[in-house]
Amino acid sequence: MSIEVKNIHKQFGNFTALNNVSLEFPAGELTALLGPSGCGKTTLLRIIAGLEQPDHGQVLLDGEDASARHVRERQVGFVFQHYALFKHMTVFENIAFGLRVRPSATRPSEQVIKEKVTKLLELVQLDWLADRYPPQLSGGQRQRIALARALAVEPRVLLLDEPFGALDAKVRKELRRWLRRLHDDLHVTSIFVTHDQEEALEVADQIVLMNKGNVEQIGAPKDVYNNPASPFVFGFLGNVNLFHGRVHEGILQSSGIAFDAPDHAETQDTKGIAYVRPHDLEVDRYTTGAEGIVVQLRRAHAIGPLAQLELERDDNGELIEAVISNERFSQLKFKEGETLIVRPKRLQVFVDDSI
Ligand code: ATP
Repeated sequence: MSIEVKNIHKQFGNFTALNNVSLEFPAGELTALLGPSGCGKTTLLRIIAGLEQPDHGQVLLDGEDASARHVRERQVGFVFQHYALFKHMTVFENIAFGLRVRPSATRPSEQVIKEKVTKLLELVQLDWLADRYPPQLSGGQRQRIALARALAVEPRVLLLDEPFGALDAKVRKELRRWLRRLHDDLHVTSIFVTHDQEEALEVADQIVLMNKGNVEQIGAPKDVYNNPASPFVFGFLGNVNLFHGRVHEGILQSSGIAFDAPDHAETQDTKGIAYVRPHDLEVDRYTTGAEGIVVQLRRAHAIGPLAQLELERDDNGELIEAVISNERFSQLKFKEGETLIVRPKRLQVFVDDSI
């Protein structure tokens, strides 16, 4: 089922939680709603579910206005950050719950419920836990059971609000891969709320990046990462070095260094900032006359395949972060305190007189 929201607006008193948000969630895709805490992700999810009413705007399910439809009629399944399993029921009974509480006319027979729950337990690969109670499960197992329970009623939409947020980093990583595989099998239209950019980039078909109640950018993870539409998106999706300066006819001048800004060929003497990711900086030993930004190597963390370098600019004392391969780092034998030179291989310039 496709989902579309149109001009959704939500105020809490004077505070604008959602500012006329319009966007589409394609059928069968997994969309990550990504953004900092308080940007309106959960509010949007709750409005789609019918748990919260917008001040104005519409929610369309498969093109039909669902604004007046009760939460039960929207056929959505939920999984929240904090496990909402019933402690006094076994895993089996928890999954069966949504089927058992149906009105008698649509309630499946005991035999069908048993078959369904067994299948779901196999799907989430926890069939051996059917008779346990939630307190006897690990956090990761509980979230998989919560997902099985949400899937039991065959929702047409699956809404996941930071489902792995309370778990430790390793389990979280495992579960997001597992969720991706599960989604590839089931293709239920899913919306996944997270504030973790790595999680969104790894799991989603589509990313919706939100900030202060507005949508900043929508796109496939690769597109959003490689072509951030705004300084906010660039900064939110990973570490970044900023080089402030002035842009004039396609060149950003920053402390005597010229950065190419071909997208701004028409710009006349305007403030601008070059955004460069740490792994998009080339680092070499300094030689007289070499072009680039002269820096001192302050610290190097060379663990695993990558070496992370903390560099201090000679001209203004600002710190720069560069990431190079550990192989290159050990070949060049850079020493802390040594003078090096850095040049951006890839950068994006944003121009704004308000910067
Ligand atoms: P987080 O990642 O922290 O959960 P979020 O992006 O999901 O954040 P929301 O939960 O949608 O953010 O909240 C958006 C803003 O609206 C927040 O500033 C929050 O304090 C406010 N808000 C949410 N619900 C209410 C409410 N019922 N009454 C008043 N303010 C609310």
